[in-house]
Order: sequence, then structure tokens, then C-alpha cells
Amino acid sequence: MSTENQTPHILDTDVLVIGAGGAGMSAAIAAGETGRRVLLADRSLIGRGGATIMAQMTVAAALGEQEPDHWRHHLRDTLAAGRGLCSEPLARLLCEEGVDAIRRLDRWGVGWARADGHLTQAQAPGHDRPRCVYVDYLNTGPAVAKTLRTQVVRAPGVRRVGDLVIVDLVLHEGRAVGAVALHLASGEPVLVRAGATVIATGGLTRLYRRNSASLNMGGDGFALALRAGARLVDMEFVQFFPIGHLAPRLVGFDPIMWDPFRYKLGGRLLNRDGEEFVARYGNAAEGQRYTTTRDAATYAILKEVESGRGSPAGGAWLSFRHVPEAALRAAFGPIIDRLAAAGIDLTQQMIEVAPIAHYHMGGIRVDTRLATDVPGLYAAGEAVGGANGANRLSGNAITEAVAFGLRAGRSAAADGVAPPTLDVLRTLAAPVLALLAPATSVAREPNVAALIEDLQATMQAHVGPFRSDAGLRQALAMLAALRARAGATLPGGGAQDPVRLDALDLRNMLLVAEAVARSALARTESRGAHQREDHPAQDEAWTLNHTIAWHDGRWALATQPVERLADLSAAQAEEATA
Ligand SMILES: Cc1cc2nc3c(=O)[nH]c(=O)nc-3n(C[C@H](O)[C@H](O)[C@H](O)COP(=O)(O)OP(=O)(O)OC[C@H]3O[C@@H](n4cnc5c(N)ncnc54)[C@H](O)[C@@H]3O)c2cc1C
Repeated sequence: MSTENQTPHILDTDVLVIGAGGAGMSAAIAAGETGRRVLLADRSLIGRGGATIMAQMTVAAALGEQEPDHWRHHLRDTLAAGRGLCSEPLARLLCEEGVDAIRRLDRWGVGWARADGHLTQAQAPGHDRPRCVYVDYLNTGPAVAKTLRTQVVRAPGVRRVGDLVIVDLVLHEGRAVGAVALHLASGEPVLVRAGATVIATGGLTRLYRRNSASLNMGGDGFALALRAGARLVDMEFVQFFPIGHLAPRLVGFDPIMWDPFRYKLGGRLLNRDGEEFVARYGNAAEGQRYTTTRDAATYAILKEVESGRGSPAGGAWLSFRHVPEAALRAAFGPIIDRLAAAGIDLTQQMIEVAPIAHYHMGGIRVDTRLATDVPGLYAAGEAVGGANGANRLSGNAITEAVAFGLRAGRSAAADGVAPPTLDVLRTLAAPVLALLAPATSVAREPNVAALIEDLQATMQAHVGPFRSDAGLRQALAMLAALRARAGATLPGGGAQDPVRLDALDLRNMLLVAEAVARSALARTESRGAHQREDHPAQDEAWTLNHTIAWHDGRWALATQPVERLADLSAAQAEEATA
């Protein structure tokens, strides 16, 4: 089918929200509340596709229900974890507006756990006090997603479209005015005309072979933003979750499920020789409290493995054998039974854990309206970079998704510039529509799934928790070779062709992987989640944010001073004396 005779289905809206996780649903609700027409699109089912529904337990907000707290304390902890690289205005937004966001979820009936008439707040690593609300063991993310889904259905003017992959944004005179999408169920192209657009597509952990993510986290939003001319920030900071499940084989459990076990019961991380080792790497001894931040724990585990003291499958042992069975049952009763059915008796047996790609601190550069560099284009949630600097505190991501989503939705709704006519839009969209035209022959080469696996292995080996100049250059060369093998046209075509979707994913993954590798190569220091073997120390000269843009096939990297809050120290001093 040629482009000329291709007639895409048309959707017309005031605000297009791409991605229906916590951030996207929050944005759609907030934009809908203003009376605007909203189109909430997701490549999966609405509210069921991304990381939000997979989130486990902790949601951080300074509610002061368990102990007196203030968002400024939360901000101080967030900035400390971010190792000097947090955009302070964005981090403030997360901590200050996070309080309202989490209370909103409470009013909407999410069901935060309560005891003695107040919300229960748990202590999590890096927080100075119990600050994390939760619903129930392993059920927090599903409860948040369900609550937001209900509100989206109730929100006025929000149209929900699942199975819709946004392939590229459409620009008119430098402004985002809509998008081209592929409807997965029919294989048909769709042209969306939009007054403003919010990217809420989550993170990029699918770039790595070992990850905690779903198939939808290949970094689409970063690729959309790059191709639209927006800058990304600090793309080198990929968070690895230190204790992802490694062995024995466990089916039907979340790979990061051991985290709450450690919080509650103080599981011990041990090396091959049964020694606790986390304190060897400059961290405080953990004792009964699991306080080491994620970057530090990841570093410690991988260094033990590298020194030949890892567990048999290449990680560390996690032991609860010192915890009485009654305590295990009191904390995690039904899960203990499910583990027993899977052949794991925690009172007798240790399990093996290892770092796993989990969250992206970098992302699309935005201001405090959540506006990107491209007029009419906003971003929210994990797709945004900067709020968490070089390392994210546990519990900050859901708060960020909801708080930033609400604000991005309001900003996009207020933007309100009329997009061009459909005829103009069709002309602007022609190159992407041409890309989506079904192939004339049923090409099965290249093997796109195999190329994706190669990309993931490359990223894991050379752009993972430890990096070096040589390794990063090798990764860039391998990515270039993969790009050459992938070619410029899409194989496959027709309704529900999985090869076509894989090829679109690969197109994005190659671009985003290169942005991560190039940023990592340029930052010649170690800080937070970015550890360079050849530059092992933190270098204060690098207390800078790193931006990367892609124009006409060329990369542009730059540094910029970290955005500070002018009133931060004065306000914190005031808070301390209050
Ligand atoms: C296993 C796991 C456990 C976690 N536990 C916690 C926790 O306990 N506490 C915490 O704070 N954080 C946790 N996180 C992190 C947190 O869940 C995420 O950072 C947060 O939910 C991100 O929300 P989001 O809305 O930005 O993205 P997501 O929830 O990932 O949603 C993004 C959506 O965009 C859609 N999408 C992507 N590309 C396209 C496209 N091209 N077109 C259309 N749609 C698209 C996806 O299908 C998806 O539905 C966890 C993450 C994982 C993976």
C-alpha cells in the first residue's frame, strides 16, 4: 500500500496523553477535570501495562502520620540520595506535591494500610524516618493502578484507547501537534490531532537483559522526545535494583519481591563464604535494619562477585535463616506458603539475588510545569529526568508518577494552542505513515527478536552497573552494527504482526541505548548509579547535569549547572528551628 492511498484513522483531541500508567492516568484525570477533551492512549490495556501495576510496596510522602514529618525532610533525603545532581525544583515538586497526590489516592479509596487510626508508614532505605505508605504486601501497585483506572473512567472528557502504539510525534513549526500511531489489533495506522501532548511512557529497563520490567519499557517516550528535538537529561543514570531474584527458579513471583522481606525482617546479604560484606564498601553495617541505598548495595554485590566471592549463580546469598518461622509467618504468611509450594523453605534455605535493571533516573528534560523544550510537549513520571539525580530513593517513583502526572495534565490542558488542519497534519505525518505501510513482501529478515536480544546483552555487559571507556566504545560499535543489520524499513506488516511491533521497538531501543551509552561515556567519574571502572571516584567538577539531543542524525551532548533552589538552605534552617 502506498502512502498516497493510505487513509489513516483520525482521532482529534485537546490533550493527548501517551501511556496509561500512574503518570498518564493522573495526567488524564487532571486534564479532564479542566473540561478539555483528553485522549489517553496506551500500547497495552489502559492502566495495566507499565511499571505502576507491578510496583510492590513503598510509596514515599511526608504525611507525618507515623512520626512528625515535613516535605522538606523528604526533600533533604531525596537530594542526598541524588548525590548532588537532583534538579532541586523538580525534587521539591515531588516531595511537596507528593503529599497531596498520596492523600488524593487515599480519598479515592486506594486503601493505604492503617493502624490505630492513622496511616501506617514504613521505614525504607535512605529515608530518615518512617515515610512509606503501602496497601498490602505486593499489592500496592495494583491498588494504585486500579484506583486511577476508576478515576479515569469517572473523569469527564477522557477517551481511553488501548492497543495503540504511538510511533512518532508530529511537529508543526516546531510545536507538537499530534502523533502517528499503530493500532495493534487492526494493524492500521492512526493519526492523532492534539492541542498538547504529554509523554508518560515510563522507563527503559527493557534495554537490559536482566530487568524487572515488562515488554512495554523499551524507552519509547525517550525516542519520541529525541526525534521531536527535545533534550534528555542524565541518561547515564540507570538504577539497578540490588536484590533481584536470581536462583532457585521461581515462577509467578515478582523478581524484586525480596525487598519488603528485608525491610521487615532484616534479611542478611552474605557472600560465598557466609560473610556479611556490605559494610566493606564504605557503607554502615546494616544490622537488623536494611539501610544501604540501592546504588551502594548494587556496587557491593557486584564487587564481591568480581572478587570471586559471589554465590554459585553469580550473585549474593540472601538469608532469613536467623528469623524465627513465627516472625516470617506473621509478616508474610500466605507468601511463605506459596514459597513452600515452590520448594523454598526460608527457615532452612538461602536464596540467591543479584542486581537487576529497575528504574531510570534520567529522562526528558522538563521545567516545573513539566514542559519539555518542544512547545506543546509535556512529560510526566519515570519518563522525566532530573528529580532523583544520580540515584532514586525507594518509594519516590509512584509519588513522582502521580504528582508529576497531575501537574503535567493541568499544564497541557492550559496550553490550548489550536493544532493545524487535518490536511496539514496528514502532509506533516506522511514520512511516518510511509514507514508504517505494510511491506510489499512478507520479509522475515532480519530476525528482529534476535537483534533485540543482542542489544540487551550488549547493554548488560557494557552499559550496566559498571562501565569503562573501552566497554562503552565497544557497546557503541555493537549498537551501530545492530542498526546496520536492522535496516531503515520495517519488516513484516499487516494486522497483528508481532514482527512489525518488534521492529518498531528495536528502532526506539537502538536510539535510546545509544543515548545512554554516549552519556555514560562522556561522564568521566563515578556517582550514584553511574560507576566507571576507569574513573572510580566522584569528581566535584562533574556536579553538572548532562543533556543529550539528536538533530538530523547527529548527537549533541552538553552540560549545564544543576538547578538549585535559591531558598533551600534558608528554608531548611527555618524548618529546623520551627
Ligand atoms: C517490579 C517493579 C516494582 C516497583 N516497585 C516500586 C515501589 O514499590 N515503589 C515505587 O515508588 N516505585 C516502584 N517501582 C517504580 C515505579 O513503579 C515506576 O517508576 C512508576 O510506576 C512509573 O510510572 P509511569 O506512569 O511513569 O510509567 P508506567 O507505569 O511504566 O506506565 C507507562 C505506560 O506507557 C505505555 N507506553 C509505553 N510506550 C508507549 C507507546 N509508544 N505508546 C503508547 N503507550 C506506551 C506502557 O504500556 C505503560 O502502560 C517499581 C517498578 C517495577 C518495575
